[in-house]
Amino acid sequence: MSRIAYVNGRYRPHAHAAVHIEDRGYQFADGVYEVVLVHRGHMVDEEGHLDRLDRSLGEIRITPPMARAPMRAVMREVLRRNRIQNGFIYIQITRGVARRDHPFPKAVKPALVMTARTIKPFDLQAARTGVDAITIPDIRWKRCDIKTVGLLPNVLGKQRAREAGAYEAWMVDETGFVTEGTSSNAWIVTRDGDLLTRNLSGAILGGITRRAILDLAHAANVRFVERAFTVAEAKAAREAFVTSASSLVKPVVRIDGQSIGNGHIGEITERLLCLYAAHMDEAAKP
Ligand code: PLP
Repeated sequence: MSRIAYVNGRYRPHAHAAVHIEDRGYQFADGVYEVVLVHRGHMVDEEGHLDRLDRSLGEIRITPPMARAPMRAVMREVLRRNRIQNGFIYIQITRGVARRDHPFPKAVKPALVMTARTIKPFDLQAARTGVDAITIPDIRWKRCDIKTVGLLPNVLGKQRAREAGAYEAWMVDETGFVTEGTSSNAWIVTRDGDLLTRNLSGAILGGITRRAILDLAHAANVRFVERAFTVAEAKAAREAFVTSASSLVKPVVRIDGQSIGNGHIGEITERLLCLYAAHMDEAAKP
């Protein structure tokens, strides 16, 4: 079956879907995006993603191209046309098409694109498998809380991870504290059993999965602290993991080649992974 993309009001075969060469997303990375997980035909944390999309748009002063209800309808139609049961929906909104010039163009309509793709159904056993992370300097700007399509430092960082045989690169600020992964939030469990993830600020993206995990941890009486931690603390940690809509809760069992814990998924990570799996199932309930 051929894939279908939504482009500014039309459903097009994916292979022929295109935007104008003067789209400001292409020219200036002047746009924002979202990636929403689809589990058994249902979106996970849909409202959280749409809230963050609105926030990102507001921060860069783009008017939403459509209201929430039609947006939800288009998302469902993209999933339906692509017959997605397990996968992702990608939503991108840019400031629109205009002659290349830095200031905001007048009277330009924002451009909205959506695509979707299928992934393998969630497999708890496979999800338990640990991965490697490396650490790299965080060379990004000071508004990482905005989910912009300007991802070059993240792309370069992820490539470094791949070339080092690692799954993710944890970015480190100038004072030695981990900010986040190139496409995920970073977490550790300290020797004292404290679950840590960096507090919200312009230094990180407020992950929707991060929020869900904090809520699940709170409900399950798992103690946590939202604060920055150093690379040294991470390497001395009992457990480490990353979260994102695509990685879910992924155990990190080595950082820069150094084993974390016993090299397998830790107790708290396991608990949070199971809670998150139940949260996904909850979203998929008819
Ligand atoms: N941090 C960065 C830089 C990301 O790109 C992402 C996701 O793509 C995340 C964190 C995790 O966000 P979410 O849980 O909403 O997928």
